[in-house]
Amino acid sequence: MTPRAKFATTLLRTAAALSRATGRGDGSVIGGRVGLIVEPRLLELLAEGRHVVLISGTNGKTTTTRFTTAALEAIGRVATNSFGANMPTGHTTALAKAPKAEYAALECDEHYLGQLLDAARPKVVALLNLSRDQLDRAMEVTALAAKWRQTLEASAGQTTIVANADDPLIVWAASVCERVVWVAAGQSWTADSAICPNCGAHLDRFGEFWRCTNCGLNRPSPQWSVAHQGEAVVGPDGRRYELNLQLPGRVNRANAATALAVASLFGVDPAQAAPRLSEVASVAGRYARVERDGRQLRLLLAKNPAGWLESFDMIDPVPPVVLSLNAREVDGFDTSWIYDVDFTSLAGRKVVVTGDRRTDLAVRLEVDGVDFLVVDDIRAAIAAVPPGPVEVVANYTAFQDIRAEFNRVN
Ligand SMILES: [Zn+2]
Repeated sequence: MTPRAKFATTLLRTAAALSRATGRGDGSVIGGRVGLIVEPRLLELLAEGRHVVLISGTNGKTTTTRFTTAALEAIGRVATNSFGANMPTGHTTALAKAPKAEYAALECDEHYLGQLLDAARPKVVALLNLSRDQLDRAMEVTALAAKWRQTLEASAGQTTIVANADDPLIVWAASVCERVVWVAAGQSWTADSAICPNCGAHLDRFGEFWRCTNCGLNRPSPQWSVAHQGEAVVGPDGRRYELNLQLPGRVNRANAATALAVASLFGVDPAQAAPRLSEVASVAGRYARVERDGRQLRLLLAKNPAGWLESFDMIDPVPPVVLSLNAREVDGFDTSWIYDVDFTSLAGRKVVVTGDRRTDLAVRLEVDGVDFLVVDDIRAAIAAVPPGPVEVVANYTAFQDIRAEFNRVN
């Protein structure tokens, strides 16, 4: 490291520590910003000589990054942006904070993938899925896939891509790369890939297979998959790795499959890695269990239509459900996407709605014929359900509000 880079790293740590001390969050963003002003190549310099994996996609990045970190820790120290600061400032801080880590597992915002490919020269890039998110802000999803395809073609070079064979947008973007390991990670949300991203023709689907009726783009044969029965991942040689995840749902088993595929590219034996994934109990508050007044709440974060659909698949069928919706800047101001989500699976159970935009949710539930109760906040929601388990599903800032109510539970 150059003297300037060392100085920048020191300033970064100081700024992050000051930010934490004054209660402004974990300081990742401000620290990284300061460091990059002093040395614009700081991220590149800090990544040099490390074995890096980038993890990106619309949903599941934070959890998959956490699983991957747990797996890689079997063979060494791992730098990671575990607090979800997933832009270059956060990556710079994660690396600066772990100078001795020879591995790095970095969650990457979809829009920064190209920049990170150039700066961090990753050994592996994991691409999970692409679907609509933050309607008024994010790039249209097919345009984002096209941008990834271009970026990967230009910069992936020696990088191995671990990609979801079940998402046509991911397959199209990744198929320009020479080295791809395919994972059958599933796709619960197909509305953004009804047509072929390559030519615009109709995609045919039969079971898990899909194929373009015009250009022939189709589902590649996956090397890794989630077992159809039980809780296990099946590897390239047909070996079965049992999972006993604390995190719920098929989606998390798929995230685990991706993490095992990534870890094995770094030389970790999946049989050694799999038990480590079961130690993960919650991820930055996601899936955390908290208790108040005899109610045991499980907190699920769902930011977009695909995320809400996946959370309905994860929740237990009996307990009451609390839904909380906000529309602040980071959520996107437009809540019309809730009309893309099918809420009918909630019919017949106790549903309580809250959050800044609770009335939007109420109208949506009425359209789907789901009975509900509207309350002012999470405290009132807790009071409105009987003692026992409760499933809570919230979008980004609504989730953070609930986390704050429980002392920023992790
Ligand atoms: Zn096509």
